[in-house]
Amino acid sequence: MPGGFRVAIIGGGYAGFELAKLLDPHLDVSLIEAREAFVHNVGAPRSVAEPGLIEQLVFPYDRLLKRGRVVRARVASVDAGGAVLTDGTRVDADAIVVATGSSYAAPFKPQGDSTAEFVAALHECAAQVAAAARIVIVGAGAVGVELAGEIKAIYRDKPVTLVSAPAQLFPMYRAELHAALASRLAGLGVELHLGQTANGLTRTDRPYQGEITLANGTRLAGLIFPAIGARVTDSPAHALPNAQRQPNGQLQVDPWLRPSSLANIFAIGDLAATGEGMTVVSASRHAPWLAGTLRKLASGKALEALPAYKPWKVPPILIPLGPGSGASVLPLGARGMVVGDWLTGAIKGKKLFIPRYEKEFGQ
Ligand SMILES: Cc1cc2nc3c(=O)[nH]c(=O)nc-3n(C[C@H](O)[C@H](O)[C@H](O)COP(=O)(O)OP(=O)(O)OC[C@H]3O[C@@H](n4cnc5c(N)ncnc54)[C@H](O)[C@@H]3O)c2cc1C
Repeated sequence: MPGGFRVAIIGGGYAGFELAKLLDPHLDVSLIEAREAFVHNVGAPRSVAEPGLIEQLVFPYDRLLKRGRVVRARVASVDAGGAVLTDGTRVDADAIVVATGSSYAAPFKPQGDSTAEFVAALHECAAQVAAAARIVIVGAGAVGVELAGEIKAIYRDKPVTLVSAPAQLFPMYRAELHAALASRLAGLGVELHLGQTANGLTRTDRPYQGEITLANGTRLAGLIFPAIGARVTDSPAHALPNAQRQPNGQLQVDPWLRPSSLANIFAIGDLAATGEGMTVVSASRHAPWLAGTLRKLASGKALEALPAYKPWKVPPILIPLGPGSGASVLPLGARGMVVGDWLTGAIKGKKLFIPRYEKEFGQ
């Protein structure tokens, strides 16, 4: 039975593709994804300063799986027996995993199903950055901070302003991370406005030429990047019986990452409210745990007898500011360990994990 146990995975982003890849040698996997290619959005902030990178961020699915299949389709609904595609076709399965993720303002994630449009949007944005007299980034989460550092690493003389509502960068982490990043941003010449909300942000879906006013009255004009966070995608799992949508759109999950009263449907990645951040770091903890769990289920074990999912205690975070600078928290010790340029560059900053995805996607 294990090899014949059918798993349907809805969404081939970071969580779904990794689960599919891990299960492919062992179970019968169908990965259902609306886009023709995987998008490595982690590299997107650098690519608007270094457009030569853009084409390297797109990975076709055709060489991902050896035994299973990638079905290019949008899933309309899921039930205990499988998934129903928008054209009415059924994909039957013994376990269903919903990994439909989240969206983000252009150009950092695709706005639809076309990866060609994603590539074109990044090129258009790179041209806007090259032409802009001043860059104003609203939102100092990982995307906003990295974007500021990446633009400054290439365009040393271009004024870049970063606006943060919290007075501390990454307040969920120890203050040393804030200090390490704030001093590096200052060294790069980024003008940092902490504890300031932006008024007059007229668009939140894409960069635009405009002007904002901070709560303290400062007026900032230029190419304005809204970088105010990810939005959970409406998914077929939101309609399942007893599914509970959190205020941020995520679905509450039980200790085995199930979002509803249906025993064989799971949710992973940004969709699942595990208490962790909406990050690849979280998704890549969900996927191996669920792969192991599904293999045991397939061999006849009862789910409730298997260990529950354990979230990260201190999720690692890696913030490069260009290939040679940055700061990170590694998951060591009770509060994590803050490290600087060298380790941030060696783990993420130099190559942005692109070689890893080339390998996974058989490039
Ligand atoms: C610019 C940027 C940089 C980032 N950098 C980092 C980083 O360095 N480190 C980090 O840890 N996190 C980072 N993140 C966060 C990270 O991208 C997300 O946490 C990650 O994408 C979540 O993966 P996921 O698989 O849950 O969802 P997604 O990656 O959003 O994938 C979901 C997939 O599901 C598909 N889908 C949705 N609905 C359907 C449907 N009905 N039918 C079929 N397919 C469907 C979508 O097409 C998509 O491919 C970054 C985010 C952004 C925007």
